[in-house]
Amino acid sequence: MGIIVQKFGGSSVANAEKIFNVAGRIQDAYDAGNSVVVVVSAQGDTTDDLIEKAAEINAKPSKREMDVLLSTGEQITIALLAMALEKNKYPVVSLTGWQTPIKTNMVYGAARIEKVETTRLTNELDKGRIVIVAGFQGVNAVNDITTLGRGGSDTTAVALAAALHADVCEIYTDVDGVYTCDPRIVPDARKLKDISYDEMLELASLGANVLHNRSVEMAKKYHVDLEVKSSFQKIAGTKVKEASSVEKLLIRGVARDNDVARIAVIGVDDTPGKAYRMFALLAKKNINVDVILQSIGRENTKDISFTVSRSQMEEAIKILTENLEMLGATKITHDEKISKVSIVGSGMLSNPGVAAKMFEALYDANINIRMISTSEIKVSVLIDEDMAEKAVQAIHNKFFKD
Ligand code: ASP
Ligand code: MG
Repeated sequence: MGIIVQKFGGSSVANAEKIFNVAGRIQDAYDAGNSVVVVVSAQGDTTDDLIEKAAEINAKPSKREMDVLLSTGEQITIALLAMALEKNKYPVVSLTGWQTPIKTNMVYGAARIEKVETTRLTNELDKGRIVIVAGFQGVNAVNDITTLGRGGSDTTAVALAAALHADVCEIYTDVDGVYTCDPRIVPDARKLKDISYDEMLELASLGANVLHNRSVEMAKKYHVDLEVKSSFQKIAGTKVKEASSVEKLLIRGVARDNDVARIAVIGVDDTPGKAYRMFALLAKKNINVDVILQSIGRENTKDISFTVSRSQMEEAIKILTENLEMLGATKITHDEKISKVSIVGSGMLSNPGVAAKMFEALYDANINIRMISTSEIKVSVLIDEDMAEKAVQAIHNKFFKD
């Protein structure tokens, strides 16, 4: 028996019936003799609704007041869930982020947790109470409420698990684990028994959308064992932990990211410092560049292409166009209708030929690759957007069926 942190996402607490379902899961853990700390998100679409409400009043509200507003969503859930447990005759107390307290830095809207004070938490646990903590929020050095950024409740849960040295942090959600692929694209995608932190981080940033990126980073840093599970079915989920794995899979997953735009700067002077100038300009405007490709020089010029998120494309083109002369380039082209498809898995470290296998799958499906990028445990290709689903299916079949 130990300390368990359980986190329930917004869809798991969306109405009264679901709140009682969640109460049942908590009671099971408590009845088994564990100390139980629970983190919850705002119910259903509450956070989106609050954002809309704010927009009706003020198109540019201060981030401080947005945080005061958005933190109320989670505050509603902790009270309702505590009431459900009270009704079932369990000892329980709810705590907001500032009551706990979860101390953050000063960045409203995207705060980082600096410290979780555990005195109140351990006192409550020692009294035998279930503690329900509001996710996604904290308090800064001037006693203002802060929020951690969308999806931040996962991070709250991991931070509490780390601070309390919990035995496990269970993330309950409306899917029952991490899959080899989005089951909406590949219906026979498999659920993984486990996945390493690094693999999960790659998948999370590729748009797998199961866990908040920062929560995985934090779990890795503090060695928190995570498990992604279903709120509704009592079955094993997916464990996220250090490298070791029981399943021998070449890759862990295939992911697709449609939020990609490609920009090509054509005819850049083939002299030192051009790439530096170009990407420094973009960095100054906080534009995140992903895949970069430089062509072989010809006639003393070269082409440099790279990708950015679609929302940053226009701005990137504008800055580069303004500096075309300084870069010694002739023109800029762009393409929004592309997708990034990636495979992830630490199996590729020890197995040559993984990339070739991916490219073969694409060749068999007659899909043209525009750009390629790799890391130790990831291979990404850029392809036409309308081919993305077909590509994901072909690659998934290649690795998981052949
Ligand atoms: N309620 C917040 C959101 O919708 C935080 C969370 O759910 O994790 O982003
Ligand atoms: Mg979430």
